[in-house]
Amino acid sequence: MSRIALFPGSFDPFTRGHEDIVLRGLKLFDEVIIGIGRNAMKQRYFPIEDMIRLIELTFAPYPNVRVVSYDDLTANIARQLGARFLLRGLRNTTDFEYENSISQVNRFVYEDVETVFLITSPHLAPISATIIRELHRYGKNIDDFLPISLERIR
Ligand code: ADP
Repeated sequence: MSRIALFPGSFDPFTRGHEDIVLRGLKLFDEVIIGIGRNAMKQRYFPIEDMIRLIELTFAPYPNVRVVSYDDLTANIARQLGARFLLRGLRNTTDFEYENSISQVNRFVYEDVETVFLITSPHLAPISATIIRELHRYGKNIDDFLPISLERIR
C-alpha cells in the first residue's frame, strides 16, 4: 500500500519553509498532497488560485506532489484522499502547543491517521506567513521567502 501524506495548512502564502517540509516529506512518503484549507470564516490575503499555481509550478518536476483545496475537517479530507499520514512542520514551542492538540483532534475524527512532524531546517525557522504578509502589505519584495517569485504566477 502506498504511503500518502497530506500536508495541510492555509499557505497564505506557501513559503520556502513549506517547500522544505514537502521535499523532506518525499523521503518518507510515496506521495505528498498539499491541502490548502479554505475557511469561509477566514479571509485570505493571497488568492487561493495564485497559491495553487505557485505550488504547481514549484513541484512541476515532482509527479508525486500535488495540491488540492478543501473546505472540511482536515481528517475527513485525509480519509477521502486515502492519506493515512498528516505532515506538519515544527518551528518552536508555540507550534508544538498548537500541533499537540490539533493532532489529538485529528485522530478523534479519523482514528487511523498519524501526524508526522518534521523539525524545521534552522535557516528557514524564522519564516512565517504572517510576517511575509506584513512585509508585502507595506510594499517590500518577498521573493526571497517564496520558492518562486510572485511575478511568475501572475
Ligand atoms: P496554519 O495556518 O495551519 O498554521 P500554515 O500554512 O501557516 O498553517 O503552515 C502549515 C504548516 O507548515 C504548519 O505545520 C507549520 O508549522 C508549517 N510551517 C510554517 N512555516 C514553516 C517554516 N518556516 N518551516 C517549516 N514549517 C513551517
